[in-house]
Amino acid sequence: MTRRPATIIDAHNHVVGDHPDTLELLARHGVKVLNICFAEADGSWRTQMREPYARLSQRYPERYAWCTSFDLPTFEDGYVERVLEGLERDLEAGAVACKIWKNVGLEVRRPDGAMLLVDDALFDPIFAYLTCVEKPLLMHVAEPIACWRPVSEASPHQVYYRDNPEWHMHGRTDVPSHEALIASRDRVVARHPGLRVIGAHLGSLEHDVGAVAERLERYPNLAVDMSARLADLMTQDGDAVRAFFLRYRDRILFGTDVVMRTPHASLGAAERARQLAVLGRTYRDYFDYLETDRVVQHKGVVARGIALPDDVLEQVYRANARAWYGL
Ligand SMILES: [Zn+2]
Repeated sequence: MTRRPATIIDAHNHVVGDHPDTLELLARHGVKVLNICFAEADGSWRTQMREPYARLSQRYPERYAWCTSFDLPTFEDGYVERVLEGLERDLEAGAVACKIWKNVGLEVRRPDGAMLLVDDALFDPIFAYLTCVEKPLLMHVAEPIACWRPVSEASPHQVYYRDNPEWHMHGRTDVPSHEALIASRDRVVARHPGLRVIGAHLGSLEHDVGAVAERLERYPNLAVDMSARLADLMTQDGDAVRAFFLRYRDRILFGTDVVMRTPHASLGAAERARQLAVLGRTYRDYFDYLETDRVVQHKGVVARGIALPDDVLEQVYRANARAWYGL
């Protein structure tokens, strides 16, 4: 029987869990959630994520922390200065990191019509600032490789692209390839060696732990979180995945990425219970896969758990979030 650490840090989630039942669920599992802001184009993230996440962290510091973001480029004078002011204010208000989201690379165009990539010089002063104040950057660049492949192909992400066709890039000639986006991310990591970078979702190389390992070897300032990619790990050879966790035990962060936007206290009891059941089931699946050698079913994928040793679990569940996010 595995001994779980007293606190597990879910280093990538989006849950406005302001109801006693949510707090009780987190306490039962010993989970502290790092809530992550991501900047949608309409700017609503500031009221819908930043404010509720900051409030939760102030009120329940044992259960919540938060990561801020910044508005998408306007290509107007003063943009970078405004971003830096916002970051300074949010870091003072307790944010532990900053996130850049997939809309950079897949959605935002420069005034000349070209897609804005994450390694555009525009962002360099922002990344330099984070380096200087020693706060990490969470990068969700690109999408799972399934995003560029036909929806008919077997993948745990099929359902998402069927339901969110605006994010499905298969057959589109006006967006960069998966490879080009990963390369743009890699260039940022290389150009800012003093910046701690966490690659969300296994650095968008979820389909192959070998490809993730290659980047971890190349860039000592890079770590990855496993959020929303358990099913991808489960589709790969269990021995290879286990070896990956053992070798990079100090570079892989536990996370789940269960997006629940409506504050739990404003939900009706039935809907809140449904969402909490999803959250609880998600934790159970991740814990079972990492801790046991039992057969686990998750998002339509069935695989045996990889039964990591206790000391590795301690790192993935807790120590790595402390080291990389200062939590
Ligand atoms: Zn997320």
